[in-house]
Amino acid sequence: MRSRLAGLALLLAAWPAAVHPAADESIRGFDPASQADEIRWENEARAIPEAARIGEFIRRYSSRAHLAGTPASKQTAEDILAQLKEIGLTAHIEQFESLLPVPKQRVLEMTAPVHLRLKLEEPVLASDKNSADPGMVASYNAYSGDGDVTADLVYVNYGLPEDYATLARQGIAVQGKIVLARYGRSFRGTKAKVAHEQGAAGCIIYSDPRDDGYFQGDAYPKGPWRPGDGIQRGSILDLPVYPGDPLSPGWASEPGSKRLTIEEAQTISKIPVLPISANDARLLFAKLEGPVAPEAWRGALPLTYHLGPGGTKVHLKIEMDNSTKPLWNVIAVIPGSDFPDQWILDGNHHDAWVHGASDPLSGAGPLMETARALAALTRKGWKPRRTIVLAFWDGEEFGLVGSTEYAEKHADELTRKLVAYLNADSNGKGAFMAGGSHSMERFVEEILRDVKEPVTGKSLLEARGNTAGQFRLNPLGSGSDYTPFLQHLGIASLDLRFVGNDNGVYHSIYDDYAWLSRFGDPGFLYGRTLSQVHLTALLRLADAPLLPFEFSRLSATVARYLDEIDKLADPALAPGLASLHEVARKLSQTSTGVESAWIKALSGAPSAGPAQLAELNQALFGAERLLASDPGLPGRPWYRHRLYAPGRYTGYEAKTLPGLREAVESKNNEEARQEAAALAQVLSALAAELARIQKLLEALQNAG
Ligand SMILES: [Zn+2]
Repeated sequence: MRSRLAGLALLLAAWPAAVHPAADESIRGFDPASQADEIRWENEARAIPEAARIGEFIRRYSSRAHLAGTPASKQTAEDILAQLKEIGLTAHIEQFESLLPVPKQRVLEMTAPVHLRLKLEEPVLASDKNSADPGMVASYNAYSGDGDVTADLVYVNYGLPEDYATLARQGIAVQGKIVLARYGRSFRGTKAKVAHEQGAAGCIIYSDPRDDGYFQGDAYPKGPWRPGDGIQRGSILDLPVYPGDPLSPGWASEPGSKRLTIEEAQTISKIPVLPISANDARLLFAKLEGPVAPEAWRGALPLTYHLGPGGTKVHLKIEMDNSTKPLWNVIAVIPGSDFPDQWILDGNHHDAWVHGASDPLSGAGPLMETARALAALTRKGWKPRRTIVLAFWDGEEFGLVGSTEYAEKHADELTRKLVAYLNADSNGKGAFMAGGSHSMERFVEEILRDVKEPVTGKSLLEARGNTAGQFRLNPLGSGSDYTPFLQHLGIASLDLRFVGNDNGVYHSIYDDYAWLSRFGDPGFLYGRTLSQVHLTALLRLADAPLLPFEFSRLSATVARYLDEIDKLADPALAPGLASLHEVARKLSQTSTGVESAWIKALSGAPSAGPAQLAELNQALFGAERLLASDPGLPGRPWYRHRLYAPGRYTGYEAKTLPGLREAVESKNNEEARQEAAALAQVLSALAAELARIQKLLEALQNAG
């Protein structure tokens, strides 16, 4: 270890950390000798991904519909497996199974004032041969309840709890009615849940042109926005309660494993729910009576928006095929040479609602290029010191099913071995979005400093308008495969990708190669850069002598979140919050101590043996686990991380310090006190562990 660690002190001493840390070229966790190697391998790695190969991957796998649970999804997994082996990697398929419902019957008709059956179909486009694929699943919301209801229609805007409060103020109740909600602002599963809680008998969700159609710009195929007949499919699994197979919360779903009944499953909707197009919604709105909708509720359909009820009655009938089907995760492993029991896992799903050129292949294509680059490096003599695992997940669209069942099955081993989970999903021309654990904020900042934006040639950090030290990671809610690793197992996780802001084909039959190559990522330049970002992160995590976790940014972030909660909280909670601030201050002090010991250890470390280093790194990556505790969040014990969760009523969007914040928001002081105590406990446990890590670092430094 001497050669790898010696000398970083000099480098760091010459680097006025408080002034321009990120302007410096140093890479966290490496001493000058190992850093020189690292830079050489990184430069080689980042030169390998090819945009054309990413385009070819997307073209190939989006050429047919490949919904999870169908033979096409199995074929996709087998083709990906063969491709990984061809590249030269060791890979296998790991199978699970899950309730993966598809529609047996969907009926939506207007019964008054006239009888009219809605289309519920997306037309074939002459310019887009994929839209004629016979293997496409009909438009539906997975995990809808079965039902057959006829009722008055009420328009509920985005279907948020506050929208129902607005209706109630106008004297409009939705009990027994069918509600019409528009997509946007909240996760669709939350719209269905809130509709049920409000007493609605059914729920229709439509895409308003104002949100992702012609109001925003030209509709597909002329432009990237949603055509009038485009329909957003999607799962309405109650993800904020738990993701994965609804019949196996907390354990892996495999042939012969224990299962709940559908009635017992908390995450399946109790009412029928169906997504429709703007053109179908227009027919429903046309004769709707009742008050005119508030201005903010009006979309871009060419009519006056009324709230109902009255005028329009509808008949909604949904019957689902609720069968359990197999899932195929594809896993490749590159064993680590020095620390094979420390793993870095990078994943992206492969299943799609239909062809999925954007969602998920625009992220999966770059992952395959990442795999190819890693294989090429090993042929040139590079050996990762830690084990790298690459995963192509199945069943993400239904509710993160493939990744969740994997994480539940391997929970013990992942808890012991997984250093970090990296994720991507849909990727496209647009801003770089980075979300994740704040113990990795500085790590990500350095990656963005060292990878170039493909069009401007600026660093990704500069392209975001960040100067050194200014970069902030977004907290993660849910909506992609990081959730089981971060929020269930407490493993530090990152979601790193470019997010295009003009995607009007999301979850429709038009999300295909023609759309992606023209609008989503022309030339696949952002795909190539995504692979470069992930390669850089993987190489650094796999090879750093000391893992790059850092806790000052984390404790500063916690303090900021506490300040936000102070402003929302009942004054009666002030004493509890004050003691939480005190715990956060202690955590901040310990973090500073660990950081300086960490820097000194990298410089001194005269005789650290591999076992000592392994123990230290184990402690560094294990620290995040302490932020997760049992029982998890109120009413949803599967969610164990006490800093980040999807909001109970936002779905995808993160709630930070979720137990405490949601108790404060719902004015439940008793629960707020309990959650404040649980939070204080995990923060204190982390502070105590950091103090122990500091001692380990100092011992390393003094060992010689
Ligand atoms: Zn996706």
